[in-house]
Amino acid sequence: MKGRLTLWAFVRVCSSVALGAMMLFSHAYGEDSASKLTLTILDPEKAATTTTREAVNVLGRTLPAAKVTVDGQPARVFATGIFVRDQVPLALGSNRIEIVAEHGNERAVETISVERLARKDESTPTTAPQRLQLEARTVEPQGEIILSPGDEMVVAVNGTPGQIAEYRVGEGRWVGMVEETDGTSTAPTGRYRGVFVAPGGSERSELALQFRLRANPKSPVRIVGVRQATLTPKTKITLWDGTKVRLARTRADGVGLVHGLHEVRLGGPYLAVLPKDVVVRVTGKRQGYWHIALTPTFDAWASAQDLELLPVGTPPPHLFFTLVSVWGDDLSDVVTIPYPRSARVPFSMTPSLGPAGRAQLCVDFYGAHHAATWISHRPSAKAIREVRVEQPAREHVRVNIELNSPQLWGYLTEVTTGSLVVRVRRAPQLVEAPESPLKGLTIALEAGHGGPKNTGARGVSGSMEKDINRMAVDELARQLREKGAEVVEARPGDSNPDLSTRARRVTESSATLFISIHANSADQSRGYLRVSGTSTYYKHGFCRDLSDAIHKRLLEMTKMDDFGNVGNFNYLPIREVTWMPSMLVEQAFMSNPEDEAKMLDPEFRSTMMKAVVTGIEDWLSAQRELQKQQNK
Ligand SMILES: [Zn+2]
Repeated sequence: MKGRLTLWAFVRVCSSVALGAMMLFSHAYGEDSASKLTLTILDPEKAATTTTREAVNVLGRTLPAAKVTVDGQPARVFATGIFVRDQVPLALGSNRIEIVAEHGNERAVETISVERLARKDESTPTTAPQRLQLEARTVEPQGEIILSPGDEMVVAVNGTPGQIAEYRVGEGRWVGMVEETDGTSTAPTGRYRGVFVAPGGSERSELALQFRLRANPKSPVRIVGVRQATLTPKTKITLWDGTKVRLARTRADGVGLVHGLHEVRLGGPYLAVLPKDVVVRVTGKRQGYWHIALTPTFDAWASAQDLELLPVGTPPPHLFFTLVSVWGDDLSDVVTIPYPRSARVPFSMTPSLGPAGRAQLCVDFYGAHHAATWISHRPSAKAIREVRVEQPAREHVRVNIELNSPQLWGYLTEVTTGSLVVRVRRAPQLVEAPESPLKGLTIALEAGHGGPKNTGARGVSGSMEKDINRMAVDELARQLREKGAEVVEARPGDSNPDLSTRARRVTESSATLFISIHANSADQSRGYLRVSGTSTYYKHGFCRDLSDAIHKRLLEMTKMDDFGNVGNFNYLPIREVTWMPSMLVEQAFMSNPEDEAKMLDPEFRSTMMKAVVTGIEDWLSAQRELQKQQNK
């Protein structure tokens, strides 16, 4: 939530390459092809290595003009001097691979030896008798658990395969568990899972969770020693009886509500981001998250450290309002919804395209009923066509803000003493054709990562993503200025402000659009050249068309492989910047030597950034046409 999630979560440093042996990319690039032939193997890291894989990737450095063969087969050599041959096949046992580089009359040879070992599943299964055991570190769930009646919770533990596993909570009865299968064989896996359903009845706190494993006389895995093993992990389970309302209050602004508990890169999709002092109903706790009942049929989760419990018996807040006012000032349209301190219920914001083809922004309140009878529209509101209030379900009220145009240009919400104020941004004034629609606009840019530690993904030749992003943004800024636009930067120079600061800077600037520039990275274990291409990303629906326009131009003008236009992406700056259309470009893959060489080539960079500028212009021109039609 607070800048902890960065793109680091899914980029991966090229760990399989001997970084110490590398030169800085700026020296390596454009190396004089007349210089003396060198040959350095970077992957595998050591001249002698062992693996269980059926093939090995060979990556190294030589002169960009050299010809390289690996095991007699040609390798690809890039402008960085990096050469690669992916997936060189290995026989079981020892393999010698000869790498030859040739340039003019010079010849350099390196040899690596790779010992391929048989995988576990290739060897014969062990029939040796085993002792009964249960592994504490594999227990699910861990830590403090609170459940309400009817809540289901999966319990799991690893132990000796093929036996009889059971669990119990407190002094309750033992309940059978099921051993997982791995889908590829019938062999027992030793992973046992069961499900606990919280009963009603009296409240009980800090009950122990226990596991028991008994020898199965019918199992092919023969047991020696004791016939029964038990395990009591540190997990403590508290059962609530469901007869009390329990509330918690957000401690600060920016508390994220998520739909479920699961591990995903960059965090889960946010259902809502709440300001300080919002009161929610809690029904349980798991994995450090409170379980929240938004309505009788809709739940959510929030990090336990973001909420403080209120005394049991505190009455829950409930929101209803009769009056909504819609008006405008010089900058934007404003919708004011009563939201008194005594009724700070959770709410979420969802921009989307309405059924009539007009943009809409929905404000959903949870713990409310519909009482609006006076929705006052003033002519000073220019972008908003109509505000409607409806109640789609019990305890759920929706304020639907419908715009005149299919395009939303941005929104902000602010909690004042007694109101929730939603600002809807108006379309900018665009200069007339044939001038570039960029003229007179301010564009916010972010060069991803920065500073000595947050260097981003590492390129195969040793380049750093932060530098590649910096060079791209400098070029993009130059081209935007040439079109008459102004540029503001979320991360000037080599600074490294946290992601929330970057987002706030962009929102506080007078920018019309926000473009974040990154470079991608992928797992290289199945080949350095396997994953390549350019891609674009956006979070909110109203940013989709801008992102799509840039994606199309990138493919057309750079001829790169397509890695997609990706929606619902959770990178914090493009999620938090809602005051303007925002998107992110992953130029190409740092992990791919061909992509990396392209990103380090100034000419290619200029073409790529020209594609970004042209994509923005395409989208703005379409907006300009749309505005013309509407004004007719
Ligand atoms: Zn990045």
